[in-house]
Amino acid sequence: MNNDDAAAKIASIRREPPSYRRLAVRSVEPVTEHMLRIVLGGDELDGFSIEAPASSVRLLLPDADTDELVMVTWTGNQFELPDGSRPPIRTFTPRDVDVDRNELTIEVVLHEHGAASDWARRARPGDEVAVSGPGRSDDLDPDARSHLLVGDESAMPAIAQLLEWIPEDRTIDAHIEIHTPDARLALPDHPNATVTWHDAVEGGSPGDAMAAAVMGVTELADAVWIAGEAAAVQRIRKYLFDERGRDRSGVTARGYWKKGRSAT
Ligand SMILES: Cc1cc2nc3c(=O)[nH]c(=O)nc-3n(C[C@H](O)[C@H](O)[C@H](O)COP(=O)(O)OP(=O)(O)OC[C@H]3O[C@@H](n4cnc5c(N)ncnc54)[C@H](O)[C@@H]3O)c2cc1C
Repeated sequence: MNNDDAAAKIASIRREPPSYRRLAVRSVEPVTEHMLRIVLGGDELDGFSIEAPASSVRLLLPDADTDELVMVTWTGNQFELPDGSRPPIRTFTPRDVDVDRNELTIEVVLHEHGAASDWARRARPGDEVAVSGPGRSDDLDPDARSHLLVGDESAMPAIAQLLEWIPEDRTIDAHIEIHTPDARLALPDHPNATVTWHDAVEGGSPGDAMAAAVMGVTELADAVWIAGEAAAVQRIRKYLFDERGRDRSGVTARGYWKKGRSAT
């Protein structure tokens, strides 16, 4: 099979993601100075549910210049705008779903500049947006007695959700890298969890403090979950495999964003 045939085969077997639901912003409130909690709602959310923590939704943003929400079509390989261009789609953790009110809450990091971050700063009740999902979630190993959770600010909504979902009789050791002390937020209580906040390494790369935290853990938990800047997550994953003898089954590693690269 030549490369074109292989690409065509992959394209033709790509499963269509859940279709987009048109919603509107219901409220916007700060969680910290660096993160906004945005509640989206609408009748089209009917039937949406999350069955496991740390899953994802794909947010279709309105056009940044016109603020108009232009719906997309699935080409068999990707979503496209009517003119054939790539739409502004970004991934978030469905932090909370209220099925009675048809509402979905997401929490968005306000980093320097990006389509989603900029949209969140501008978002007002009534603004239209569309959501596809939920996507893949990280099934919890029911046999894991202890969990190591490691993430940066983009992973805080997922870590908050994991703290809610992991049974109370399991232990949790959570390490979170923040770029400034006031990015800390109140996390859900779990009777057997310790949460340690780590300041990002000044002049270092994103995830350096996460990596140092993992290296400082003397006894690794049964299950390790890591999410944040993709290169850092890969580095930590490799360290766990190469230096700590972990196998794939005990490590869930998710790149949530890439330094210097837009998610489109
Ligand atoms: C499964 C999953 C769940 C996620 N859940 C959340 C969530 O709940 N909340 C959340 O805020 N994000 C979450 N993310 C990460 C989010 O999708 C990315 O941060 C996304 O790139 C943001 O889009 P943007 O348009 O703001 O920036 P982009 O246009 O993608 O990027 C623009 C620039 O900003 C930089 N950048 C992107 N994200 C960050 C960041 N977090 N910190 C610093 N610099 C950044 C990029 O390197 C690039 O240089 C999740 C990602 C995945 C895959």
